[in-house]
Amino acid sequence: MPKKPTLSPSKISTYLACPVKYKWTYVDDRGKWYLRSKSYYSFGTTLHAVLQRFHDQGDTGVTTTEQALAALEESWIDAGYSSQDEMMQALSEGKAIVEKYVDAVVAQPVTAKTLWVEKNLRLDLGPFVLIGRLDRVDEHDDGAIEVVDYKSGRQDVRTEDVATDLAMCCYQILLRDQFPDRPVRARIIAIRSGASATASLSDSEAEDFRRDILFLGQEILDRDYANLAPRPKDLCPECDFLPLCQKHPEFELA
Ligand code: SF4
Repeated sequence: MPKKPTLSPSKISTYLACPVKYKWTYVDDRGKWYLRSKSYYSFGTTLHAVLQRFHDQGDTGVTTTEQALAALEESWIDAGYSSQDEMMQALSEGKAIVEKYVDAVVAQPVTAKTLWVEKNLRLDLGPFVLIGRLDRVDEHDDGAIEVVDYKSGRQDVRTEDVATDLAMCCYQILLRDQFPDRPVRARIIAIRSGASATASLSDSEAEDFRRDILFLGQEILDRDYANLAPRPKDLCPECDFLPLCQKHPEFELA
């Protein structure tokens, strides 16, 4: 039997932003030659790696601020920076963020146990499997299961941001399947500032979201990518695939 296709929140978000971008990223091999390293990906990936080790109950090597700073230097990714100066500035910014974050966590009372870090979950929805990689999953003293997502690019986060975030809704669906008898909620932490917010899908919202994702996923999988024409949009000037789209006879940026 052929393997079922998989869809992740990032695949779905890419499609929603631009179906042609989805084609170049996931369907048509020509796209890979146009992908460029981005400093904000490198920065975010490094910070995630450090926080993963800090919260991993099985990793006793990163429990203090000093160890977290050492881990940051160890796992630093330098791809995508335009100069050594820019990279050194980002490294010192990263150190300040990690120091502030770890100090704040250590000072807080412990009201939750971390169950998983960087956890891959999957849920068979019929035509495809919904997959997700969750930064962290905590079990709280009140029995609630909380998925935690770190955002390294933003200073602030509101409840509404969590409630409408596609990935956070997908993660809640995945966790509801794992913990059917527990309340499930989602938290985004803006690690630059330490600001955080939570939201939770009600049973009926979770049901509606699951139905919408199934419908959208079916559309993504059934789309005729070979005959899909690129349409200019605000994203285009910053898009890696612009040179590819510009080869299309009808594509013209304003
Ligand atoms: S250049 Fe524009 S149309 Fe082409 S993939 Fe990127 S966002 Fe989509």
